[in-house]
Amino acid sequence: MAAIRFTNVGKRYSGGFDALTGVDFALESGEMAFLTGHSGAGKSTLLKLIMLMERPSRGQVQVGEHDLASLTRRNIPQHRRRIGVVFQNHHLLFDRSVFDNVALPLQIAGYDPADAARRVRAALDKVGLLMREKQNPIALSSGEQQRVGIARAIVHKPALLLADEPTGNLDPELSEGVMRLFEQFNRIGTTVLIASHDLSLIQRMRRRTLVLRGGRLVADGC
Ligand code: ADP
Ligand code: ADP
Repeated sequence: MAAIRFTNVGKRYSGGFDALTGVDFALESGEMAFLTGHSGAGKSTLLKLIMLMERPSRGQVQVGEHDLASLTRRNIPQHRRRIGVVFQNHHLLFDRSVFDNVALPLQIAGYDPADAARRVRAALDKVGLLMREKQNPIALSSGEQQRVGIARAIVHKPALLLADEPTGNLDPELSEGVMRLFEQFNRIGTTVLIASHDLSLIQRMRRRTLVLRGGRLVADGC
């Protein structure tokens, strides 16, 4: 089954600007792919449609078994729980520990605290930061902060992991480390879609790459 399927998707913002036009692609369950294109090409808009932060103006967006048009506002929290999202500026909270940052999605979802603690530690272990759990994220390097953001995105074991310019603030070596982490989660079955304009990094990863230009999908390959 496709994890994500776009069928002739268009997105026109309220000002009349067409951010996406006629976008067609499917990402199979278990695939890992990149989404690239210049600034303004429509990468964030495409990710927002998947997360239901925006609705398409035309066409169909399917995520797993759901046609997103059939989901109402009431279904959105449940939909988002199936997706992990990593942002460029990681959106960590500096008024609490690394542990509490990663635990946040589980608290919101109402997990039993003991089960949540076990999952948080497993997630921190996977990104190599278990020994930092009690620290405030402000004390960490930018690469470590981004890994905390990744731990928070995967702590509830989403089937789908999305990232929007996850290495935008990192130097090349740290960027590659972050990409290897995404590969590691992909290897255990998570579908991964990463928006990035870092072409040299994408080329090193040798993965399927969707290229947007002016809101149109102009290339799709390795
Ligand atoms: P990218 O992530 O590739 O930089 P975006 O999806 O952010 O591209 O933006 C695509 C185009 O849509 C840009 O021209 C941007 O200015 C426009 N855009 C994005 N969000 C909005 C919005 N909320 N309202 C109007 N225009 C928008
Ligand atoms: P459980 O015993 O609850 O199944 P695991 O020990 O298998 O938990 O996994 C613990 C942590 O590892 C999860 O909270 C998550 O961070 C990460 N993880 C495991 N499997 C996946 C997956 N398929 N996708 C993303 N993250 C995963």
